[in-house]
Amino acid sequence: MSALAKNYNRKNISFKKGKGSFLYSTNGKKYLDFVQGIAVNCLGHSNPELVKAINDQSKKVWHVSNAFRIPEGEKLAKKIVKKTFANSVIFQNSGAEATEVAIKVARRYFYSIGKPKKTRILCIKNSFHGRTLAAIFASGSKKMTEGFGNVGGFDHFAFGDHNSLKKKITKNTAAIMVETIMGEGGIKVIPDWCLKDLRKLCDKKNILLILDEVQCGIGRSGDFFAFERSKVKPDIVPIAKGIGGGFPIGAVLMNKKVSSGMVPGTHGSTFGGNPLAMSVGNKVIDIITNKKFLNNVKSLSKYFLLNLQKIKDKYPNIIKQIRGKGLLIGIQLYTDQSFFIKKLMENRLLTIRASENVVRILPPLNVKKTEIDLALKIINKVCKDIK
Ligand SMILES: *Cc1c(COP(=O)(O)O)cnc(C)c1O
Repeated sequence: MSALAKNYNRKNISFKKGKGSFLYSTNGKKYLDFVQGIAVNCLGHSNPELVKAINDQSKKVWHVSNAFRIPEGEKLAKKIVKKTFANSVIFQNSGAEATEVAIKVARRYFYSIGKPKKTRILCIKNSFHGRTLAAIFASGSKKMTEGFGNVGGFDHFAFGDHNSLKKKITKNTAAIMVETIMGEGGIKVIPDWCLKDLRKLCDKKNILLILDEVQCGIGRSGDFFAFERSKVKPDIVPIAKGIGGGFPIGAVLMNKKVSSGMVPGTHGSTFGGNPLAMSVGNKVIDIITNKKFLNNVKSLSKYFLLNLQKIKDKYPNIIKQIRGKGLLIGIQLYTDQSFFIKKLMENRLLTIRASENVVRILPPLNVKKTEIDLALKIINKVCKDIK
């Protein structure tokens, strides 16, 4: 009997080591890991460069308070600012913290310009912004909020419902917060033209635009940020998952306008941005932002999606739709999702569920083509077996 609380329905399997795209279970089996800690291990398991970065830093200094300057964090923030729309960064330890801070930054901005009533955040119904109290109420999902009382300040509209979105805006709306690609929600991509319209709407109504890139950011979409190709500039972007390559890091990126509200004392974190975390973050960003690296993600994605489409065409009664962008991929099924995932696992491919009966596939961004071929072979076999 496990002494861990029962808040997870865990599969009865554990691992003794990982290398690149593979995990080795304690009972001696080798699995192709296309979960990667849910889009976290963007460079695979025990990546030698990340191992070196963390080892080197661990011999110098692990942790100091944010009461002092942390050069490793300043270095990482500078790199992020140089590559993106952002003017400044606050480091955290997780995605939910990053979305919380995004909300704080939005509210604090309007407070700082004399509009303290402009506090409401407008989100997509059944989205996912993390599991803190504010984040679950931002997500607007009955399943996540049930039994947890209430946290006010959030309004919701349905994905793709532009009329309802416009109707829900009031003079007290501070920000619209959406995932550029809904991850947990079933790998639903917001089209570029919608992002552009959102930006226009926000500008017209004096509302801030928060794009949650916790799952789809850091190269996952094939671009550093999933919103990049739309040319839209958000005001605030929470990130996490991929940025630490497996080490817990979250961050909120903001433009100059909104950062002015975050004066000393308005936010803090004991662990956020400590030297150990920052040493890994610096290495991850050096690797991911390389143009060659991202071009490779794009071409791997094209290959993967094309061949998944072929499997779908072969088994139209099993697969309903192939979804996604970059290496954030979903297979929407007609048949039972958990059975399909179980079958994939029996064939040594690890995947994870998402809403709308979607099987989520999240290879490391440096996955090899031969590993994608292996995954395709297993997916094809499982479809054949089910049929
Ligand atoms: C995972 C996720 C979060 C929450 O991240 P945690 O690190 O689990 O707190 C927030 N937003 C999105 C879009 C996510 O996918």
